[in-house]
Amino acid sequence: MPQMINVNFSQDDSYRYKMEAPQIRQEGDGNGVHTAFDNLSQISTALRRSTAELVKHFEFAFGTMCQKKEDAEIYSFNGKYDYQTVMQALQAFVKNYVLCQHCGNPETVHDVKQDLVLSHCRACGKYFELKPKSTQKLIAWLIRIKNTVDQKKRKTINPVQIVGKIQKVIDNIDNLKNQLKEFTDQGQIQEEELPVVLVAAYFQQKDVKTDFPKFLEMLTAIDQFTKYHHIYFLYAIELLVKQKLETFETTPNLLNFILQKSSDLIQKDTFALFRSEQAEIFVPQEFHEKVVDMATQFFDWIDNEDVEEIEEIEEIDEDQE
Ligand SMILES: [Zn+2]
Repeated sequence: MPQMINVNFSQDDSYRYKMEAPQIRQEGDGNGVHTAFDNLSQISTALRRSTAELVKHFEFAFGTMCQKKEDAEIYSFNGKYDYQTVMQALQAFVKNYVLCQHCGNPETVHDVKQDLVLSHCRACGKYFELKPKSTQKLIAWLIRIKNTVDQKKRKTINPVQIVGKIQKVIDNIDNLKNQLKEFTDQGQIQEEELPVVLVAAYFQQKDVKTDFPKFLEMLTAIDQFTKYHHIYFLYAIELLVKQKLETFETTPNLLNFILQKSSDLIQKDTFALFRSEQAEIFVPQEFHEKVVDMATQFFDWIDNEDVEEIEEIEEIDEDQE
């Protein structure tokens, strides 16, 4: 197992955001020398950035080209780069492209506009513009790619098709992972849309109550589902409530039940954020408030977790079957 380091490169043991330290090897010789990066993909996931963004950054930083090895998540850069050079480039990426400029938290989302990139921090809520420093070329590339993807998307990408394709592989975890990676790498699914397409694909035919625990097992098995997605998972759930409102209204405890099950996977502070937030991501604000009301029992439980009300929710739920 590679050594784990803090994503902000601090030495603080209690810091909660970790990533694998880069694992690199030099291969070949003469003009054919290259540096193979074994865990680039894991690092990009830990930083909540696409593999393509991190590959591009190293290409710009080293002034070289990268090739992905066939059949493996190994990225190989032309030339010889030692560990220190790789670490310096990675630090520039994290500092200028990942961390919040206000609070230093790494949970940021990029919103690519016509000619600038705005970063939104999920921890402190602030927006800031990514200022070209050592990531100038990367930012320009991102804007170019995003605008091209947007144009393509307008012509060809249909959310129903995406959900349909995911549905075909939903019962095979490896195929599902590959399909998701393809969609996110090509920009066909934005990072924040991942939970909502998964929820939509899974519950189009399956039953919310009986299959929800299996759905959570599937999420746990998907590497692409990271802490970053937790809040969007809750937004996806409220969209599910809206789409299956009759089911949720005739089984009033269903929402409390699935939230309670989710609390093994979703962090407690994410529930608090969801409860307090103005959320107009997928449903109108009034509906969000309705969902928060419907989940009163769950929120009471999570506020007093030590009181062990967990069984009470389940009992009430079973009574209604
Ligand atoms: Zn912040």
